[in-house]
Amino acid sequence: MILVVGGAGYIGSHTVKELVKVSEVIVLDNLSTGHRWAVDDRALFIEGDLGKKEDVEKVFEMYPIEAVMHFAANSLVGESVVEPLKYYENNVASTLTLLKTMLKYNIKNFIFSSTAATYGIPEDKLLTEQSATNPINPYGRSKLMIEHIVEDFSKAYDFHYIVLRYFNAAGAHESGSIGERHEPETHLIPIILQHLLGQREKISVFGTDYNTLDGTCIRDYIHVTDLARAHILALQALLNKQKQAEVYNLGNGKGYSVEEVIQTCERVTGLQAIVEKTERRPGDPAQLVASAEKIYHELGWKAQFGIEQIIESAWRWHSIQNKND
Ligand code: UDP
Repeated sequence: MILVVGGAGYIGSHTVKELVKVSEVIVLDNLSTGHRWAVDDRALFIEGDLGKKEDVEKVFEMYPIEAVMHFAANSLVGESVVEPLKYYENNVASTLTLLKTMLKYNIKNFIFSSTAATYGIPEDKLLTEQSATNPINPYGRSKLMIEHIVEDFSKAYDFHYIVLRYFNAAGAHESGSIGERHEPETHLIPIILQHLLGQREKISVFGTDYNTLDGTCIRDYIHVTDLARAHILALQALLNKQKQAEVYNLGNGKGYSVEEVIQTCERVTGLQAIVEKTERRPGDPAQLVASAEKIYHELGWKAQFGIEQIIESAWRWHSIQNKND
């Protein structure tokens, strides 16, 4: 059985949908930001808190867990700058409780959701796993701390891990049954689409004076189903002992500026956006683009979906939500 912590969240719930096809799955989630409806019916759902030793121990006590996938975290750069305690508590202290309990129950395999925010201000145009990691916000730092902890664990204990550094997750499941839903929403693509659906007056572009072609920030957007598939490959690599301690980037290898994303949303939807230019958002590097060569060569993973398909799937999801709300 595979334990998915945070399996009711955006990336976790999409991964569970893939994982139930190949394994028995238990989801542990405190539903602080996740949604019960997002958890596939084929998975067993337990409401519980990662930071509470009893909640985690209960699961390990009752079920034969072979591996843990850990998605449960706060993940907003801006929020982390103003509420660092929340990030160190939920992302670092709670994860340490999970890891300690894993050691106690002799569970050796761990897949960890990390982030491009660990790189900070990139020194390389295309970030590889060897690029320097100097995060510039508490969110990125909290994730990098766990990366260091699992690396140390793997050297000292019989403990194996794969860290997956996501670039900008976006898009929705092809079924239209799950997608991105954060409250409040802060991510670019959902915000643009909500605006185009008439749910927001306008879109704010945070900073137009970055050192990029059009002055707006460049990100590497990756379809959430592509991320989900990478987790299945990582799990197989750990379980068949092909890998024991690895870090992989997950991205498309191609960057799009905020302006380009807005234009693509307009093209896909056939609607025109109202855009205002505003100040930079604290904690944002100008450009984050992945090289995902390493995971391609070692595990055969490659992103299948490009920016248009990401936005098309997100548009389908947001349109359905709009009708239901
Ligand atoms: N962004 C923006 N307006 C918004 C939301 C985001 O200009 O309303 C920008 C943000 O500054 C960043 C990019 O869009 O450069 C992607 O931001 P998002 O919050 O989606 O993801 P992040 O890169 O923070 O993980």
